[in-house]
Amino acid sequence: MEQAESKVEATPFEFMVSRFDIAAKKLGLDNGLYQVLLTPDREIGLAIPVQMANGKLTVFKGYRVQHNLARGPAHGGIRYAPDVTLDQIRALAAGMTWKCAVMKIPFGGAQGGIVCDPKKLSGTELEKITRRYTASLIDILGPERDVAGPDITTDEKVMAWIMDTYSMHVRHTVTAVVTGKPLDLGGTVGRREATGRGCKIVCDRAVSRFRMERENSRVIIQGFGNLGSMAARILHESGYLVVGVSDITGGIHNPQGINVTQLMAYAEEAKTVTGFPGADAISGAELLEQPCEILLPAATENQITIQNADKIKARIICEGANDPTTAQADEILYDKRIFIIPDLLANAGGVTVSYFEWVQDRQGYFWNPRTVNDRLEEIMVNSFDTVASYADRHSVNMRIAAYMLAIDRVAYTTRERGIYA
Ligand code: NAD
Repeated sequence: MEQAESKVEATPFEFMVSRFDIAAKKLGLDNGLYQVLLTPDREIGLAIPVQMANGKLTVFKGYRVQHNLARGPAHGGIRYAPDVTLDQIRALAAGMTWKCAVMKIPFGGAQGGIVCDPKKLSGTELEKITRRYTASLIDILGPERDVAGPDITTDEKVMAWIMDTYSMHVRHTVTAVVTGKPLDLGGTVGRREATGRGCKIVCDRAVSRFRMERENSRVIIQGFGNLGSMAARILHESGYLVVGVSDITGGIHNPQGINVTQLMAYAEEAKTVTGFPGADAISGAELLEQPCEILLPAATENQITIQNADKIKARIICEGANDPTTAQADEILYDKRIFIIPDLLANAGGVTVSYFEWVQDRQGYFWNPRTVNDRLEEIMVNSFDTVASYADRHSVNMRIAAYMLAIDRVAYTTRERGIYA
């Protein structure tokens, strides 16, 4: 009989807490700080009434959660999706607190969301929703308070509307209130490829840790959207052998290597990776189980589960997606001695370059691509090495080490600041 995967049924926030708890216990975190660190600083629920194109009034539900502000202004994405819930937003906000702390970025964590289906909304409707949401949050947003960013289904255009609405309210242009803006509005070079570039940098560290070579390192990537395609391109250009790629429609596999440049041109046209002439067709599920040195999930959460963990043949898993591995799958993978670069570290290239964007906006001085990429490399390498040595020192895996490091840093700041009463 197949074993049930209980953790899949946990809510996103409970899922985060289950990992937090292991790390907190290892650290011996006292109960008071445990509660301070887990309780969101602020949770806002909003009604967003909008006059739709058909003249009817519709009320959308919106949220913004600021999880922890001890280390600096809150920072986190805003997602527009029909399945947005407060619990999910809370979990993502907490995840941002830990991610920023792992990377030593002076931000706390936040997340926002609006329950809507952007595919069913016109551009004007989306703009109205965005501007009303921003206006309702005007007192809590700001470069020193809460810096919004893009997330699933929100893009540069949405960030530009938020920046403009905020600026109109405060009567001067404030570019640093959002990241992920168009370049001409105070965006940064290197933002679009930052997460993929970050994945490549941590893969390099892991490969050299195990005395492997890039040229002999076969890579399989699940997901070929913003992150997956960028990671594939950068890994391919750096000499890695990308042997498999999938998207929601299916997978392709070629053990000799896929020409990613040609694949990108093909996928741009065909809107899918399937049917690419330079590789064989394979199902997405089967692709995950093919032999490779690096498996890079870059699609959605809960993809490596108790059902397939035992069949994974990778040496390294680089978690590009957030939460691609369930808690029970984690145990199986560690028993198999698969080295996991956890999401808190592996996909933090994006938030790191968001931080660079905020810094440049506040300086009013913009860096060239080389400066952005060099500084990203420095932070990614330092963070990988710190998490790896933390893991070795405390005899824990990389995921728990990342959580321990993050909790330790936020707890330290909280203790140093003291509790204002
Ligand atoms: P995206 O929407 O651009 O792309 C998602 C891709 O995954 C698409 O190609 C889709 O077809 C594919 N996909 C969906 N379900 C799949 C499945 N079951 N099997 C195979 N492919 C599947 O999203 P994105 O921006 O690339 O983000 C991907 C993941 O990375 C998300 O978990 C996101 O939270 C995380 N992430 C992204 C960034 C970033 O900068 N883009 C930063 C941090 C984390």
